[in-house]
Amino acid sequence: MIIALKRNTPSGERERLISWLESYGVRTHVSEGEYQTVIGLVGDTTRIDTDLIGGLEIVESVTRISEPFKKANRKFHPDDTVIRIAEGTAIGGGHFQFIAGPCSVESEEQMESVAEAVKKSGARVLRGGAFKPRTSPYDFQGLHEEGIRILLETKRRTGLPIITEIMDIAHLPLFEQVDVIQVGARNMQNFELLKELGRIDKPILLKRGLANNLKELLMSAEYIMAGGNERVILCERGIRTYETYTRNTLDLSAVAVLHELSHLPVVVDPSHATGHARYVRPMALAAAACGADGLMIEVHNDPPHALCDGPQSLTPAQFDEVARAVKKLLEAMEGD
Ligand code: PEP
Ligand code: MN
Repeated sequence: MIIALKRNTPSGERERLISWLESYGVRTHVSEGEYQTVIGLVGDTTRIDTDLIGGLEIVESVTRISEPFKKANRKFHPDDTVIRIAEGTAIGGGHFQFIAGPCSVESEEQMESVAEAVKKSGARVLRGGAFKPRTSPYDFQGLHEEGIRILLETKRRTGLPIITEIMDIAHLPLFEQVDVIQVGARNMQNFELLKELGRIDKPILLKRGLANNLKELLMSAEYIMAGGNERVILCERGIRTYETYTRNTLDLSAVAVLHELSHLPVVVDPSHATGHARYVRPMALAAAACGADGLMIEVHNDPPHALCDGPQSLTPAQFDEVARAVKKLLEAMEGD
């Protein structure tokens, strides 16, 4: 971090600022120019509030040289993180995974038929929402505890690890046997929730917020990691733009940028990103081509009658075809 002081700053005030900065455990280097004095900070500056310093009377400007996220930062962890989801299933660092299943858990029969089908097509993680973040309070809200029970039963029968979304930390005891906990887009900055998830020992799939930039996504990952839980999977699921032909706008450059900035695995969700089943295939291929570590795809046994997100859900047969195409592409890219 570099702090430029205003001209003619009295040396007493400058020294006061320096000793305050050093109280954060950083070292300071002062370079005194003819017109301006600059203080360079060396060490861990993550706890230093740049806005606070920038607002001081004697400060002209503050520039961060390194990013404010540390644990998620590739600089301090050059190798890709490989996250073990379950026995024999890992993601990241060359381990690509399909996460598939319906938007919402609706019944035991539905989950079993979808799970069996997506497993045959190569999915190694089963998704299904039990607590649904719906825009309207009158829409289907999920089966709650019963939904988790069905997921666990499907896991027992099929052997597929499961991922499901948490909306309230009070529900955490229900997630004890869930393999991956999802934090949905709407909760990406629910910091108290993130802090609690930082205290548990389970992979967390963190979805990008509807209107959040990548630095904010990484800072949210940092919230979880700072608590000790370093098993965070990032998920790009599209962001709000002025475009209306798609539900959101899939930001595929996020995959490249996140891989550069962070060692954490990056998953792409082309279902929520586009909102239309017919766009899932091209976007899934594009995501795999640009280096995503996995895909999260909504699959329903009967999309026209789905209780949530039917229009963007693939049938098991469509998923099978998409998974084949993606696998072919990944094989072609091998060794790249
Ligand atoms: C979901 O995956 O079920 C979901 C609600 O997605 P998002 O949080 O990305 O909207
Ligand atoms: Mn959905």
